Amino acid sequence: MMLIACMAAAIAGGCSGPGSDPSATKKPAATKVPAEPTPEPTPVPWQTDDQGRRLAGSDITATVRRDGTPKKYFTISFDDGITQDKRIIEIYKKYNFKGGTFFIDTGLFGANWTWVGQTLGDPTLTHIRWTEEEFKTGIYDGYDVESHTYDHPSLKNLGTSNVVHEIMDDTENIYNLTGIYPTGMAWPGGDTEYTSATIEIVRDRTTAKFARATTSTYKFKLPRYWLKWQPTCGITDPNLFKYAQKFLDTECTEDMLFYVWGHGYELDFSKKWEDLDKLIKMMTEAEDVICVSNADFYWLFKDEVPAWKETE
Ligand SMILES: [Zn+2]
Repeated sequence: MMLIACMAAAIAGGCSGPGSDPSATKKPAATKVPAEPTPEPTPVPWQTDDQGRRLAGSDITATVRRDGTPKKYFTISFDDGITQDKRIIEIYKKYNFKGGTFFIDTGLFGANWTWVGQTLGDPTLTHIRWTEEEFKTGIYDGYDVESHTYDHPSLKNLGTSNVVHEIMDDTENIYNLTGIYPTGMAWPGGDTEYTSATIEIVRDRTTAKFARATTSTYKFKLPRYWLKWQPTCGITDPNLFKYAQKFLDTECTEDMLFYVWGHGYELDFSKKWEDLDKLIKMMTEAEDVICVSNADFYWLFKDEVPAWKETE
């Protein structure tokens, strides 16, 4: 209604808004036409590789500016591509949380790892990966999907070509399923399952630019190396909220990263779904925290962290 009224007034020769001088319409019409504002250059939203494939997270620099002022970043990831991820994403959507990364194994679609529940002494606990058909329904649409290797082996026991196959086949499959090329990976099986030699294969023979490890640092520092990216703590860490609060309370004098990782089944096992909800609420409501995916964070800080140490 306001728009229609204003348009009618404009046609009649003026558009008086609140507080404007009604006598203004009696003055001679201004002859100077204001210059059209110069349009902002359209940002290139995605970077592509040499084959024209969109790279996950590479659009972040179009929306998050690194302006020399230290900032706080929060990121979180879940491994294995299992059915609990759906509930995780429901929590993310409740808070319009766009960060969050999921590491999946495309050679294990539909796998049911009953041994996880048995090992933890709870046979009702499930660890069931989505089938390919389920994945294609768009469960992860809008979220960062990265490689967790093709079928989750102990990489330290594999030869070079098999390590390359594990990472690159999974990466290519994710690209073919999502149209977005993964930027990195998470090491399968934890920090005992890879070696310096394996890291160097990833660095020299794959496209993975980061590889998340599993040992908690309990710190908010930038990663020391992209290919051994250690998180701050796990999602079921008994001190999770101590660290979360410390992150919020600490004065930001240098760029800070709070990185939480885990598996969806841990939330079932530990009955900590409310903790995830509370954590995402805290981080999304904090005005000075920028929520990013793992790939986003890589693109923001890619030039400030080395891939790996030069020598052992
Ligand atoms: Zn895993």
